[in-house]
Order: sequence, then C-alpha cells, then structure tokens
Amino acid sequence: TIRTRFAPSPTGYLHLGGARTALFSWAFARHHNGVFVLRIEDTDIERSTPEAVQAILNGMDWLGMQPDEGPFYQMERVELYRDVIERMLNEGHAYYCYSSPEEVNAMREKARLAGLKPRYDGTWRPEPGKTLPPVPQDRKPVVRFKTPQDGATSWNDLVKGPISIDNSELDDLVIARADGTPTYNFCVVVDDWDMQITHVIRGDDHINNTPRQINILRALGGTLPQYGHVPMILGPDGEKLSKRHGAVSVMQYDDDGYLPEAMVNYLARLGWSHGNDEVFSREQFIEWFDTRNLSKSAAQWDPKKLNWVNAHYIRESSNQRLAEKVAPRIVKLDGNPEAVDLEAVMGLLKERAETLNQLAEEAMLFCGPYIPADAELKQEHLTPEALTVLADFAGQAATLPEWTTPALSDLIKTVLKQHNLKMPKLGIPLRVAVTGRKQTPAVDAVLSLLGRETVLKRLAATLE
Ligand code: GLU
Repeated sequence: TIRTRFAPSPTGYLHLGGARTALFSWAFARHHNGVFVLRIEDTDIERSTPEAVQAILNGMDWLGMQPDEGPFYQMERVELYRDVIERMLNEGHAYYCYSSPEEVNAMREKARLAGLKPRYDGTWRPEPGKTLPPVPQDRKPVVRFKTPQDGATSWNDLVKGPISIDNSELDDLVIARADGTPTYNFCVVVDDWDMQITHVIRGDDHINNTPRQINILRALGGTLPQYGHVPMILGPDGEKLSKRHGAVSVMQYDDDGYLPEAMVNYLARLGWSHGNDEVFSREQFIEWFDTRNLSKSAAQWDPKKLNWVNAHYIRESSNQRLAEKVAPRIVKLDGNPEAVDLEAVMGLLKERAETLNQLAEEAMLFCGPYIPADAELKQEHLTPEALTVLADFAGQAATLPEWTTPALSDLIKTVLKQHNLKMPKLGIPLRVAVTGRKQTPAVDAVLSLLGRETVLKRLAATLE
C-alpha cells in the first residue's frame, strides 16, 4: 500500500503552502487507495502551541482532507526515538560528542576561513585505530550520527528528477541534544520509517535535509521512501508568498467568503496541472493526480484567478446552500437575513458574485436599513418629470393583482409606454427612490423581493 503523510510543525495556522503540499500527499494516497497519515511535529516546544494544532486540524477539515491515520504527536513518541538512538550508539552508527558549543563554533569558523563549508571537525568521531580525547568531567555529550564520508547520496526526486549530494558535504549531524531530546531531522526519519511512509511529498525547503535523512534511514536498515519536493508558492510580485501578500492562513479564506471546494480546486492547480483543465471536482483531482504533472518551477499566487474559481463554485451552488452560508455574514454586517426570501436573493445575486462576503454585502440591500438617496442623487434623478412618472407607477403598483417579478416587469413596460419613455427613465428613478442607489440588480426583481408594502411606503416618502 501507498502511504503518504503530512507533517506540519504546529507553530502557526495552516498556511497556503502547507495546505497545498498536504493536498498533494492526500490526493496521491487517495488516487492509489493508500493511506494518508497526519503527524504533528511538535518537538520544538518553545514554538509549538495547542492552538496551532487546532488551527491545522480545522484547516484540513475545512478543505476536506481527513487523515486515515493520526494525528500522531512526536512529543508522545520520544521513547521510540530514545530507543533508536540507543540502538544506533550500540551499533556504531552514532557516537557521543563532548565538544562544547564554543568549540564547535570555533571548528566551523576555522572551516569557513579555510574556504570550506562550516562543519564539525570529527574530534569525537570514533575510527579504527584512533584514540579519542579524554572525556571531560561535568559535560553532557550530544549524540552525533556517523555520516558516511565517501561517495554520494542520490535519489530520483519525484518532482525534480535525479539529485546527488557528495557525502563530504554533510556534517556529522546531532541527533540528540545534550539534554537527551532528539533533533528534528532524526525524528522525521524514525517516524517515516516507523509509519512505513512510501512517498514523502513536501516543500523544497526540505531538500537539504533529504540526504541526511536518507543516510540515517540507511544506517537503520529502513527502506527508502520516494521523495518529491514541491517548489514553493510565490506572490504576484514574484517574491516568496508571505503575509505581505495578504492572507496566508487557509482559514482566513473561509472568513473572507471562499468556498472550500474553490480553495481545493485553486490550490490543486498551483504547481500541478491536468491539460488545460481549470475547474474540476475533488473526485476528478484524485483521479487525475500524478506526481509527474507536478511543476518543477515555483507557482505564482493569483488572487484574480482564485476569485474566478470561487465565482464559478458560487454560481454552481444551490440558492439554499448559499443562503445558509451567507446568513451569518449578513448578521455580522448588522443586517437581518430573515427580512427577505434570502434564497431568492441568492438566486438574483449569485451570477455576479466572487465571494460569499460580496453576496452578504449586496444582500444588505434587502436585509439592511433603508438609506434614502443623498441630495445629489435625488437632484439628478428625481426630477419633476421623473416624480410624475413615479407617482403614476406607484398608483398602478398599489392595485397590481400579483406582486411578482413578471407582473412588475409588465407594469414597468406599461408605464414606460404610457409616458413614451425608455427604460432608464423609469428604472433609475425607481431604484433611487426605493433603494437609495442608482445601481442594483434587475429592478423588477428587486421590487418583487422588497415586497409591495416596503416599495409603496418608500415611493410615498419620495413623493411627499
Ligand atoms: N515539519 C516540517 C514542516 O512543517 C515538515 C517536515 C517534512 O515534511 O518532512 O516544515
């Protein structure tokens, strides 16, 4: 079975880059009827918080990426890491290093001055025939991995193709700190091994860790997973995507009125493609997903395209679903979603809306307080001639047998004909009088949704 994992560090919300790599891991597992594992990498106790764990779980839930196994928490697995360190020490794959941090800094500085990569100089690395320095009193050692010194570590990256790093470039990595706690790279290896991960799909900021992780895994006798390193997401200006570019937390997009299926669709297309398909369902994404179609170059965040995708899913949603999602947003704007047939309002507005928040704002025409037109609008559009026509319209509207959009549409046509006028000559004054605005959706539908009583009351106030 194919087993993938998402392994976030809970130091903040679920950000867009994390959500996208998670989505690829998830889709890959789903495509192969495999297992998607969630592992919380919380060993950085200073920076990890329970709120961040919750934010990550919420984000995954919102996007519909439920793990098949987990969440596992690394902090609950320290005993396993200790056992493995013990084993590596016993088997000679790791050794105690008593160099002080100051000494290690000096070694790195020395290497740097010699034009080499800063590195630990191997003072405590045991070799056949080598005598180690005397163990200093009162100093707790770190544990270092005995990295192979010859040859190269190579893998065929699922995204980037063949990669090879000379082992001479790699340091003897610290796998346990002086206080006994295991280090990040080591825990990742033990977990990927213990959880039998077959495919590691992650951000390419981890590419430097991969040869170290491969070497440790080899020393442990584990089977290597396949690695795929996904390029990062850039902002519209070509810089690494960050807060500067607006929201980077996935859940912020929920707040801002994006539908989860739009978000999944859009994120999936960031750095992955299937021909020219831009709009596809979650099922299609799973069916089509293949690491071969992951892009080798960075993807660019495009808010306009996200809005376009979101607008598509808004149009495709039922009026009922939209009304449910928009009602609380109207309440937040101090409007009353019950003041109107909200589903009908959604039907009227959804063709042109890009976000649920836009829908809520536009629905305030029906759910918010009536704000009469300002003096300028009145002066321009409620001229004496316009008021005459409005008075005539009001009189006939009062006795209209049915208060429906088609009936109102007919009435508007009739009044226009009687006065020998074109549509805007009645349409705009009607809007200004009844809604206080010059621009609204189709005026017959707006009048119909506002209801006869409201419309006649506002017309009467205008005509006073
Ligand atoms: N915990 C790492 C991070 O959040 C990911 C580690 C991995 O995927 O190997 O960046």
